[in-house]
Amino acid sequence: MIPAAFDYVRAESVDHAVATLAEHGDEAKVMAGGQSLLPLMRMRLAAPGVVVDIGRLTGLRGVREDGDVLVIGALTTHHEVLHNDLVHRYARLLAEVTATVADPAIRHRGTFGGSLAHADPAGDLPAAALALDAEMVAQGPGGRRSIPVRRFFADYLETALSPDEVLVEVRVPKLGPEWGFRYEKLNRVAQAWAIVGVATAVRRDNGSIAEARVGLTNMGHTPLRADATEAALAGLDASDDTALAAAADRAAEGTHPPSDLSGQADYRRHLARVLTRRAVRHAAGLS
Ligand SMILES: Cc1cc2nc3c(=O)[nH]c(=O)nc-3n(C[C@H](O)[C@H](O)[C@H](O)COP(=O)(O)OP(=O)(O)OC[C@H]3O[C@@H](n4cnc5c(N)ncnc54)[C@H](O)[C@@H]3O)c2cc1C
Repeated sequence: MIPAAFDYVRAESVDHAVATLAEHGDEAKVMAGGQSLLPLMRMRLAAPGVVVDIGRLTGLRGVREDGDVLVIGALTTHHEVLHNDLVHRYARLLAEVTATVADPAIRHRGTFGGSLAHADPAGDLPAAALALDAEMVAQGPGGRRSIPVRRFFADYLETALSPDEVLVEVRVPKLGPEWGFRYEKLNRVAQAWAIVGVATAVRRDNGSIAEARVGLTNMGHTPLRADATEAALAGLDASDDTALAAAADRAAEGTHPPSDLSGQADYRRHLARVLTRRAVRHAAGLS
């Protein structure tokens, strides 16, 4: 379908983008890679009066170090994240998750920040950002502010960003070699959306699980953390498979997964338990 008519503004700077958003309020939408916004507009599920294209703001692109944090520009493409050395060294989970996103053409245009700002509970990167305890940096008319990822995903396709704010960068704490990672994604065909996904980061200490973080894809209105599983995993002997399985069995607690053509809610709860067990075993170095 053809989108509804809209005005197009190419932002010359972040300040210009913010000023344009502030002028038009709810009528305006930021466009980064356009890989989620444009399909929605073509289906007429979104009809912004003004599209503010930030795609050429090269200052928002790239990965750099800032002490013990990796700073990933919001416009860094999936392809760039996937092939970035710093990401592989300090936040390998992001590369592993990004490799499962869509296909190479979409990964060349779609952006890291766009995936997070889109806040699709079926998107893969939000679960990884949750498991990595990332911080979102937004710029609005009053300057910049940081939003912990746990407070960023507000509801279905809704974030804590206000209509006049642009997500400019994502700060990801560097994780060292004591951490193991795994993303388990079940989809019907390669390069498709997750029916359920589980992103894990596990810190090992002398054969024990010192800390485990588990992000869930497509298990509710927003991307989620599996809090009950995380609490049950803390301090476990990493080779105690029975205890790991019991902890993974709590992965669906507090979730509200959808029922749709790809699976009923009960099936998704089952998948969350099975995939969590697999992901945690792998991240803990057991398989
Ligand atoms: C066929 C297809 C298959 C796909 N498969 C997958 C998949 O398997 N897994 C997956 O995770 N994703 C998948 N995607 C989505 C893809 O990853 C998109 O790249 C991503 O969701 C959005 O990134 P974008 O840069 O294109 O954002 P856009 O489409 O430009 O924007 C998306 C939304 O975020 C907002 N936004 C974007 N950037 C900012 C910013 N910096 N500040 C404030 N708001 C912003 C926009 O206003 C819009 O509401 C798929 C897409 C397609 C078309």
